[in-house]
Amino acid sequence: MLYSNLSVNEKGHLTIAGLDAVTLVEQYGSPLMVLDENKVRENCRTYIDAVKKYLPTGSKPLYAGKAFCFKSLYNIIESEGMGADVVSPGELYVVNAANFPLEYVYFHGNNKTDEDITFAIKTGIGRFVADNRDELISIDRIAGENGKKQRVLLRLSPGIDPHTHAKISTGNVDSKFGTAIETGQATELLKFALTLKNIEVEGFHCHIGSQIFESEPFCDAADIMLRFVADAKENLGFETKYLNLGGGFGVRYVESHPKIDIADNIKKLGEHVNAACERFGITAPAILLEPGRSIVADTCTTLYRIGSVKTITGYKSYVSIDGGMTDNPRYALYGSEYTVLNASKADKSADFVCTIAGRCCESGDLIQEGVKVASPERGDILAVLTTGAYNYSMASNYNRICRPAVIIVKDGETRVGIRRETFEDLIRYDM
Ligand SMILES: *Cc1c(COP(=O)(O)O)cnc(C)c1O
Repeated sequence: MLYSNLSVNEKGHLTIAGLDAVTLVEQYGSPLMVLDENKVRENCRTYIDAVKKYLPTGSKPLYAGKAFCFKSLYNIIESEGMGADVVSPGELYVVNAANFPLEYVYFHGNNKTDEDITFAIKTGIGRFVADNRDELISIDRIAGENGKKQRVLLRLSPGIDPHTHAKISTGNVDSKFGTAIETGQATELLKFALTLKNIEVEGFHCHIGSQIFESEPFCDAADIMLRFVADAKENLGFETKYLNLGGGFGVRYVESHPKIDIADNIKKLGEHVNAACERFGITAPAILLEPGRSIVADTCTTLYRIGSVKTITGYKSYVSIDGGMTDNPRYALYGSEYTVLNASKADKSADFVCTIAGRCCESGDLIQEGVKVASPERGDILAVLTTGAYNYSMASNYNRICRPAVIIVKDGETRVGIRRETFEDLIRYDM
């Protein structure tokens, strides 16, 4: 099995954290997303421990909630001592509803409206990660109107290509995110920010991309950012408190993906940061990291019921499931790889080559193509692994399909994290 929390029981069924996947679907219906709480905690601790051990004092990992955003999950993550980042007022609303301490919440995004900024300031957001000059002007004005001095980090683009999918690469010079260092505009932005009296600049942020398997791109980004930090000190006398290096560590979706040792990568990053600071003659700022995918992706499995198996003679076979791009649009969006297995026959050899099709009226509504599944039949439960990140958070009601339920399993117990959507939910906004 891809992960150690998955196994096969005496009935030949897949088990998730010790619980029979087929029984879970009988209890809660399908499609069903099953989140393993202990695995979330384990992933958080890997970051917490490594950050404490290898990064400068004051460093902290923040959970990037856009990966999977709901109250119970924030409760788990908060109890492990992580901070959080949000990219919209909606995410801020959820994190606040979970009673997450807002001191440790950072507000991202390349286009925050005046309403967003006002909402965040009134709610009591810890810090903004300001993307551009227009936004800084608004934050300064709105903070002033509310009698506050608002702490911000400036989002910069270091000009790094992390060799990942173009749609999830975000740190290149011509990115829509942040302000470029290479063009001199980042320095101008800092100078400008320092003139604003309702703003306190605490440091800088960059996020180079996602699903990155090595520490090199992060080290390269750290180099460029720390050089900027050193220049800011030398030329403007600016002291950087925080350097946020973003998220992006990769996750193993299929056996062929490399295993990634996050702690070791953070160790390498820490050594690199220390060496760079020594070289530039600066004291190391506290480092913030923003893992999303690597906290939740491998903690969740989606279970579907198979509805049909159709072989087009001489071409291919389709296995249709009762969900699809509405709960997992990642294959349709980026051709993402997934491990798929027949949870009803997890002890049988997977030798039936097929394409897993969703139920939407779109030919592109596929979960995976050309995968091997053990003799699929109508009624079997199909498991798609590693669906914790960017699945539910990207889910839609296309074709008026209800979003699945999310259950949380821990020590043999289950509870509902997000209830299944109902038909009534579908007409909630209709007048
Ligand atoms: C998406 C995003 C993250 C999280 O990235 P992962 O690849 O899920 O770790 C962190 N920071 C910012 C600014 C992001 O946009």
